[in-house]
Amino acid sequence: MSDCIFCKIAAGEIPADTLYDDGEVLIFRDINPEAPVHLLVIPRRHIATLNDLSEVDAALIGRLYLAGQQVATELGVAESGYRTVINCNRDAGQIVFHIHMHLLAGRELGWPPG
Ligand code: AMP
Repeated sequence: MSDCIFCKIAAGEIPADTLYDDGEVLIFRDINPEAPVHLLVIPRRHIATLNDLSEVDAALIGRLYLAGQQVATELGVAESGYRTVINCNRDAGQIVFHIHMHLLAGRELGWPPG
């Protein structure tokens, strides 16, 4: 999608602090971190929201979690813990309509989220 900011990051047209890229899944630091570690895990392929997933995307979504687990381990937060969140649409506060998994860590995270 030509006007999608995360597609532009995936294409290298907008800079990002990238920690992981296997050609299919990309992980970069959130520009406005809500925790000492705040990463965004995205598929390179444009999918707008969780509602747009279909059966063929099942393995891809699994790979988001595996990539997140790997980077959390590399950053030393896997044992202390981390949270993964995918916001879907307005009530969840989704503002970027390219599916992305937040990975938050590095402090005690409150529950339930607001
Ligand atoms: P969401 O509310 O789930 O759609 O979250 C979108 C996230 O993308 C927010 O946490 C933003 O801070 C983050 N974000 C927006 N633009 C960029 C960017 N250019 N680089 C890194 N993170 C970004």
